[in-house]
Amino acid sequence: MPPFEEYCEEIKSIWDTRWLSNFGPKYQKFKKGLLDYFNVPNIHMFTNGHQALEIAIAALGLKGEVITTPFTFASTTLAIVRSGLTPVFCDISEDDYTMDTDKIESLITERTSAIIPVHVYGNVCNYKEIERIARKHGLKVIYDGAHSFGETIDGKTTAQLGDITMFSFHATKVFHSIEGGCLTYSDDQLAAPLHALGQFGLSKNEDIALPGTNAKMNEFQAAMGVCNLKYVEEYIAARKKCVERYRENLGNIDGIKLCEEKSNIKYNYSYFPVVFDREKLGVDRDDVFKALADNNIFARKYFYPLTSDMTFVRNVTSPAETPVAKKIASNVLTLPLYSELALEDIDEICRIITDMCSH
Ligand SMILES: *Cc1c(COP(=O)(O)O)cnc(C)c1O
Repeated sequence: MPPFEEYCEEIKSIWDTRWLSNFGPKYQKFKKGLLDYFNVPNIHMFTNGHQALEIAIAALGLKGEVITTPFTFASTTLAIVRSGLTPVFCDISEDDYTMDTDKIESLITERTSAIIPVHVYGNVCNYKEIERIARKHGLKVIYDGAHSFGETIDGKTTAQLGDITMFSFHATKVFHSIEGGCLTYSDDQLAAPLHALGQFGLSKNEDIALPGTNAKMNEFQAAMGVCNLKYVEEYIAARKKCVERYRENLGNIDGIKLCEEKSNIKYNYSYFPVVFDREKLGVDRDDVFKALADNNIFARKYFYPLTSDMTFVRNVTSPAETPVAKKIASNVLTLPLYSELALEDIDEICRIITDMCSH
């Protein structure tokens, strides 16, 4: 949370303007801040990231099949299915759990219209290869960048990648506006449809051409975003310290796999995934999850199960062959991570884990 007084100060003028939603002064102020922070020409903010993703799909007029990852929060796959499209699941890389770009091309058919990859845990996708494949086959690319706020790769912000990138500003993310989300893009032609789709499809005249939804970000959300944006680099720096402490504790244990950091990426440390090898450790992910829970420490089984195994997907497509994703989903835990987490608490969490693993 930003300092309470700063949020109160920020919302005060809303009592003068009586402007509560519909792209008011707070929305405009937040927008300016984000354009600058992301270094992009265009942005549109919405009430949450999920709605933003559905609107991105509608604005690009996607049809048929979309190649995506099953190793993500259900929202990514839900947006595809709810838009009447068929998700085609690509396996993930062992190394950073993003889409394995060597496996994309064999999944392309004449029905494929787009690729929707996820920068999962803030591990940025192999964007160069995705761009090459998309160009070659005439496909659109929408990144689910919900985990990638504040990150750069090769000096570019993740907001600059693909046709559109979605960010989530949900309360649980690195950066939040209570609920919220946005789409960043470079093609100016998308501005009008994106704006219309988020407010019922309304545009200048009285007719509605595009069947839109209501996904407007309100002024209180925007004000929270304005306040948090001032502190996001501080939040990220504090998270980095936490991750370094985790690495010191868990970095050299045979059977515990951590993601390696790449030197061309500036990370936001949004999640700390740990993969447990049962053969080597004699205990599995569920054992560790339970031992931590018994001590009131709540790790998450992110991302388990794979979205491709969820009932809403099994009702619309045939099973996917994604052995790596399956293995990681069965063995991964994300450990507690937030900017106010005490380093001593991290030592305690790691002590519980290492004690179990050495027995
Ligand atoms: C949080 C999240 C979303 C959805 O964002 P909301 O703002 O919560 O609607 C989508 N995709 C991923 C990968 C997420 O983690």
